[in-house]
Amino acid sequence: MKYPISEEFNPYITAVFGQKLWYGKHRGVDFGSKSPDPVIITAPHSGYLTQYFHYQWGKYTEIKTTRFRTILAHNKLLDGWLVEGNRNINKGQAVAVMGNTGWSTGRHLHWQLYDNGIIVDPLNYLDDTPMNMITRVVNTAKKKFSDPSSVFIIVPDVGEYLVINNEKRKITSKTSTKDMEALKNIFGVYVSKEDADKIPSGEDL
Ligand SMILES: [Zn+2]
Repeated sequence: MKYPISEEFNPYITAVFGQKLWYGKHRGVDFGSKSPDPVIITAPHSGYLTQYFHYQWGKYTEIKTTRFRTILAHNKLLDGWLVEGNRNINKGQAVAVMGNTGWSTGRHLHWQLYDNGIIVDPLNYLDDTPMNMITRVVNTAKKKFSDPSSVFIIVPDVGEYLVINNEKRKITSKTSTKDMEALKNIFGVYVSKEDADKIPSGEDL
């Protein structure tokens, strides 16, 4: 599957799957963006698109295949839908605009995914691009700890580390500067080279 927001909007993850929130465990993954422009949401996979209103998800987009069901929640109230509903759409196609409808305290996208009716972590289904592979490593690390904010990405020259609970762990996949910069945007974290050098190393991921 494809990341649902393109890099030009500098999307970052504000809540991971399974994270404890005020109402219980988070059943999807949340994305924010500081872009002043309308943030375009693209289809993570192809399928049949429908559109609904829901007290919790607000104005939302659903994409269904025989196996998958994707919910893209909290679409923008006015002009929040970019295609007409009840039609087949392609992976990567622009479908909605990020908004703040439903149970939402700020503009964001909530992506919830079902695999054969079972709710799953969407990030585990991303295509194997280098950046998505690192996204998964960071996501796994964040989920391992009760406080996901204890997980940071370090970007020393070409960043290769995560910091988890004040220990540095090496990321094992080959990474490019561009990918790490994009990840820094996605997860909204940054540690300077000087600070990175002060942090002790833990076991590799
Ligand atoms: Zn959410």
